[in-house]
Amino acid sequence: MVRTFDSVIIGSGQAGPFLAARLAAAGQTVALVERKFLGGTCVNTGCTPTKTLVASARVAHMTRDAARFGVHFQGEVKVSLADVKSRADKILLNSRESVGKMLAKAGCTVVHGHARFASAHEILVGDEILRGEQIFIDVGGRTAIPKLPGVENVRYLTNSSLLELSELPKHLVVVGGGAVGVEFAQVFRRFGSEVTLVEMKPSLMHHEDAAASALVAELLQQEGVRLRLDAECLSFSPHPGGVFVHVDCKDGDTDVHGSHVLLAMGRVPNTDDLGLDAAGVIRDSSGYIPVDEQLRTNIPHIWALGDCNRRGGFTHTAYNDFEIVAANLLDGGHRRVSDRIPARATYTDPPLAQVGMTEEEARATGRDLLIATRPMRSVARAIEKGETFGLMKAVVDAQTKRILGAMIFGVGGDEAIHSILEIMYADEPYTTITNAVHIHPTVSELIPTLLGSLRPAT
Ligand SMILES: Cc1cc2nc3c(=O)[nH]c(=O)nc-3n(C[C@H](O)[C@H](O)[C@H](O)COP(=O)(O)OP(=O)(O)OC[C@H]3O[C@@H](n4cnc5c(N)ncnc54)[C@H](O)[C@@H]3O)c2cc1C
Repeated sequence: MVRTFDSVIIGSGQAGPFLAARLAAAGQTVALVERKFLGGTCVNTGCTPTKTLVASARVAHMTRDAARFGVHFQGEVKVSLADVKSRADKILLNSRESVGKMLAKAGCTVVHGHARFASAHEILVGDEILRGEQIFIDVGGRTAIPKLPGVENVRYLTNSSLLELSELPKHLVVVGGGAVGVEFAQVFRRFGSEVTLVEMKPSLMHHEDAAASALVAELLQQEGVRLRLDAECLSFSPHPGGVFVHVDCKDGDTDVHGSHVLLAMGRVPNTDDLGLDAAGVIRDSSGYIPVDEQLRTNIPHIWALGDCNRRGGFTHTAYNDFEIVAANLLDGGHRRVSDRIPARATYTDPPLAQVGMTEEEARATGRDLLIATRPMRSVARAIEKGETFGLMKAVVDAQTKRILGAMIFGVGGDEAIHSILEIMYADEPYTTITNAVHIHPTVSELIPTLLGSLRPAT
């Protein structure tokens, strides 16, 4: 059977459903194909469930720490992973359902199944062909399973299967010190599991500001996460009680024995089983789909949005891809993906937020820089909350006075950093913020003070 639509969208992540609804509202016939759950990674196995876990872990942590605030209770803090999971499931199912409702309300045709190109205008789903004048690929990614020795012989967890557990692992070995790895490491340590975090590089979060990366390691160690950095020669073997992870670190034992092992060594795009060749769409050597400024692939009527185009890697960037495509196609806009300023947060507690360039990236541009840093212990609100761990930093172009980047690793940092991001989008000098009066007591009120203490980089 062949059904014809103005637009066919593959994947219901953070770009596809919103684009489907906009196109339908503009009068198009739209089909959206999803092979698993509406809402994609963020809703089902990414942001939403992990941030609900972060919230539960924080409650456990604060409860253990309550006496520091003069609050006393008797008994032991016990975390029921089944209850934590049921809270997370309720929240994510609600989000998943609202995606379905939005698509239904917009009049889109939702097709469940695996989509594969049969030709440049035809998508095969089961034994049905969906023909589209325009095609939008929003297939996201999945956990990378690197070909490390022995990995095929052990039962490993991914971000998806870890969220299915209803009993706490006795000893969780997290392999991979990026955002996903450090968030899960802290969460499960706070839940009460023993946790070892193994990273092949000499530092955690190595794309982040070097000072922040060192502080993440300090934070996790303070909470009892064991770190095994420089684990250059990783391999795995089964063990009656779980998994041996062999780590060839510069110091410490060469084996870690865990009851469970989580692989968090990056993501790969879901483009290998899409039949892209049948449409003539090019992939790069890592499987990502190259796109132009308007997110078009090399085939003019096919666009690629979200994680699969390697231009973002976050929910907000995938959503912004939808905004760019919708504005250009439907509103006569001229929006470009390169107008987007990088912005991200890692949801350790406290969170690590970064906008624009890190100090290292700014230095690599060769510009004259002004740099300021402030410890979170100089933030009144942080002192009052009893959460003074961390640091804020800003990097400014000495000539133009434009902020090139900023980092806040501290309580409320994920929210407070937006005042800096707005000034960067407005292309205003940093003095716009130093002249502003912020509310007391907030984390944001230290940003003018931070910028007031800028000094030439040495
Ligand atoms: C553990 C974890 C935590 C995260 N936390 C955050 C966070 O806090 N903040 C943040 O900004 N980002 C976070 N992310 C990243 C975020 O989830 C992704 O960047 C975002 O979901 C990307 O959206 P997307 O639209 O590219 O694709 P996805 O959300 O991955 O959706 C793609 C969809 O396409 C479907 N699909 C794939 N191939 C086919 C096919 N051939 N046929 C039919 N359907 C197909 C998939 O089933 C999936 O539903 C996290 C990711 C993980 C793994």
